[in-house]
Amino acid sequence: MNDQVRDQLKRPLRDLRISITDRCNFRCRYCMPEEIFGANYSFLPSDKILSFEEIERLSSIFVSLGVKKLRITGGEPLLRRDIAVLIEMLSSIDGVEDIAMTTNGSLLKKHAKALAKAGLSRVSISLDSLNEERFLAMNGNRGKVKSVLEGIEKASEAGLQVKINMVVKKGVNEQDIIPMARYFKERNHPLRFIEYMDVGNSNGWRLDDVISKKEILHQVNSFSPIEPLAPNYEGEVATRYRYVEGGEEIGVISSVTDSFCSSCTRARISAEGKLYTCLFASDGTDLRHLLRSGLSDDEIAESIRNVWQHRSDRYSDERTSGTSSERQSKVEMSHIGG
Ligand code: SAM
Ligand code: SF4
Ligand code: SF4
Repeated sequence: MNDQVRDQLKRPLRDLRISITDRCNFRCRYCMPEEIFGANYSFLPSDKILSFEEIERLSSIFVSLGVKKLRITGGEPLLRRDIAVLIEMLSSIDGVEDIAMTTNGSLLKKHAKALAKAGLSRVSISLDSLNEERFLAMNGNRGKVKSVLEGIEKASEAGLQVKINMVVKKGVNEQDIIPMARYFKERNHPLRFIEYMDVGNSNGWRLDDVISKKEILHQVNSFSPIEPLAPNYEGEVATRYRYVEGGEEIGVISSVTDSFCSSCTRARISAEGKLYTCLFASDGTDLRHLLRSGLSDDEIAESIRNVWQHRSDRYSDERTSGTSSERQSKVEMSHIGG
C-alpha cells in the first residue's frame, strides 16, 4: 500500500452502527436466504447478546472517541423487546446528536410513536417493491407491502424523519425503480437505491446481478429529470439528487460501481459485541469480552482506538467479480446490519 492510500485511510470515527439482534422476521434472498437461515440455523442465544446496559456503556465509550451518530439495526431491531427503553437510554448519553434506526418496517406501525417519544430521530425503512408478489418473493414470503407502507406513514405521523431503502437486483426488481420513485416523490419521502452487494457468504452474489448506479439514475431521470445535490456532510454514503421540477430527493448507495472507502467513518458492532471496521470483514474484535472482564471505560476506549487507528479496510475499492468468492468468510449482513 503506498503512502497516499495509507493517508486516505486515516479516517475519523464518526458513526456507530449497533446491531441489537441477529434474528429477523423476513428472509430476504439477498441477505438471509431461507435455505441457510431456515429452521436449523443457530441464532445467538440471549446470554451472548449485549444487554441494553452494555450497549449503553459501549455507546458512551464510542462517543468519548468522537462518535456523534448512532444507528440501531439488526437482523430486525424491532424484534428486540422493550426497544424504546434502549432508545431512551442512548438518547440521554451526553454527546449523542442523532439516533437513527434501519428496519424492515413490518412492526413499525406498532412502535413508531414510542420510539419517537424515546428520542429516535430518523428511521430508514427497507422496501424493495410496491408489487406484492415481487416483494414476497424477495423477502421469503414473510412480509406484506401494506404493513410496511402503514409503518412508513405511522413513523412520519410520529414526527420521525423517514427514508426508504430499496435494494435493486437485476432480473428481480429493476422494473420497480420508477414506480418506487413516483410513489415516494408524491409523498415527499427520500428514496435511496442500494446496489446489490456481495455481503456475507450466503446470497450467491454475482457481479452480473448488479444494477449500477448509472442505470438506476438513467431510469429515474427518464421518469422525471434529476440534478445532483451537494453532500450534506463529508463522508455521506449516498450520492444525492433532486427532481428538477421540485419535490423530494433521491440517493444512490453505489458500493459496487462507485465505491467510497476513503471516506468511510463508520464502526459496526454486532449483536454479540464484536467490533467490525468494514462491512466485508471476516472477523471482528470481541468487545463483549472486554466489557465482561472488569476493564475500565478508558481501557476499553484504548483498545477501540487502537483497532480503529490500524484499520486499512478498502474492500469495495478493491472489489473485482472474483473477490467475493475468493474471500469465503465475510460476516453476514444480518449480523452487522448494513
Ligand atoms: N432488517 C433491517 C432492514 O432490512 O432494514 C435492518 C438490517 S438490514 C441487514 C440493513 C440494510 O441492509 C437493509 O436496507 C437491507 O436492504 C440492506 N441489505 C441487506 N443485504 C443486502 C445486500 N446483499 N446488498 C445491498 N443491501 C443489502
Ligand atoms: Fe431481515 Fe433486513 Fe436482512 Fe431482510 S435485509 S432479511 S429484513 S435483516
Ligand atoms: Fe467502508 Fe469497508 Fe464499505 Fe469500504 S467496503 S466503504 S471500508 S465498509
